[in-house]
Amino acid sequence: MAYSEETYIRAPIVVVLGHVDAGKTTLLDKIRGTAVAKREPGTMTQHIGASFLPWKALEEISGPLLERIRVEIKIPGFLVIDTPGHEAFSNLRSRGGSIADIAILVVDVQKGLEPQTFESIEILRSKRVPFVVAVNKIDKIPGWRSNPNRPFIESIKSQDEAVALKLEELLSYIIEQFKSIGFRADRYDRIKDFTKIVALVPVSALTGEGLPDLLLVLAGLSQRFLIKRLVARVAPARGVVLELKEEIGLGTTATVIVYDGVLRKGDLTVVGGLEKPVVTRIRLLLMPKPLDEMRSPEDRFLEVERVYAAAGVKIVADGLEASVPGAPLVVLSREEELNKILRDVQEEIQTTRFQRDIAGVIVKADTLGTLEALIGYLKKNNVPVRLADVGPVVKRDIVEAAFVKSLDPPLAAVLAFNVKVLPESREEAAQKGIPIFAERIIYRLVENYLKWYSEQRELEK
Ligand code: GDP
Repeated sequence: MAYSEETYIRAPIVVVLGHVDAGKTTLLDKIRGTAVAKREPGTMTQHIGASFLPWKALEEISGPLLERIRVEIKIPGFLVIDTPGHEAFSNLRSRGGSIADIAILVVDVQKGLEPQTFESIEILRSKRVPFVVAVNKIDKIPGWRSNPNRPFIESIKSQDEAVALKLEELLSYIIEQFKSIGFRADRYDRIKDFTKIVALVPVSALTGEGLPDLLLVLAGLSQRFLIKRLVARVAPARGVVLELKEEIGLGTTATVIVYDGVLRKGDLTVVGGLEKPVVTRIRLLLMPKPLDEMRSPEDRFLEVERVYAAAGVKIVADGLEASVPGAPLVVLSREEELNKILRDVQEEIQTTRFQRDIAGVIVKADTLGTLEALIGYLKKNNVPVRLADVGPVVKRDIVEAAFVKSLDPPLAAVLAFNVKVLPESREEAAQKGIPIFAERIIYRLVENYLKWYSEQRELEK
């Protein structure tokens, strides 16, 4: 197949995030179940690492509701990433942002704002990703829809005042966060106006109630605001590694989300690596087999010659063990581009920012996504960052912090999110009097540090 100047509208890539236990996995299962159940014979709706929900399925699910949105250019469906959570979300990056086109922020109706809701909102904000809020577990508030003409939060109020207050708080917080960058937020009552970027949609991931509305709002937003972004080319593919996995007989394989172009078996490809980029030729492209064609648990994959964006596919190629989740994948089209592509690919996964003379904190986190969220928080609180990196707290981090101590002591600290602190680092830190703040919740980590910081400033006076 030759490349051409042709373009097509690809499916938007949808990512689900929110606080633990809000119901992300259940919601994904429900959407996936729906996608599989509505599988049209002959159309490939299953993907690896993602589920494809074709427009046809959407029509069946959201049926008459769909007539309410004006469709100029139809999206082919949605590619919903199967892994929930903000780590998956922000690891899926392309230059300049996330490859997620649109997100579903899942909130437990009875809990409202929770720590990871704040974090998710911070990530969505920093990446400028439009999103829909799925106000989940609505089945726990029976009777809320007693008056269908009432706006959502008001109907909740008549059932449970405390819950309604939580929702008001959630809405205000989102509006507050987004107004500064021109996003508008409003509650969803009836579908009449899609100029509002953020909608609260009541759903139950358990019963499926509200799912048609949720998909409808997603479709409306995508078609209204994303069409330009969804133009894909018949050109060498670009994608991102979602995860690496050992497969018996195949070695290390990578699940790749292709967001542009066409990925073909035999393509010479550059994948970002831990140390340096991996240049490799794609031996096999695998998609899941339809369930009724599997002969054994091992017989899961179907070989394909090519995939078009947006797709999730498993690739088999030599050397993938040196690549990392979140790494970009770029197919080489012309040899002379190699050096530039190698440089670009590696630059993209290189987050270590090392600024010689900056007095700032040392930040370590478990993934690029959380690292970015953490840096975002610190920026908002005017805390300068000297060094930011993924991985455990190593001795060098302490040495860096000790150097900062000579410049501005209250900034001489290590902030570690969800990573190990090596024993030798602890020793070194104790010796040099460098505090290490280690936490599993970002905002608490920043809070703890800020508290210590202001105490230190007080002491200086
Ligand atoms: P995650 O951590 O966000 O992926 O949350 P899960 O999907 O694992 O859900 C956490 C718990 O909430 C599970 O026990 C689910 O059965 C339950 N749950 C999820 N969605 C709903 C819902 O819509 N209604 C009710 N009643 N329970 C739900």
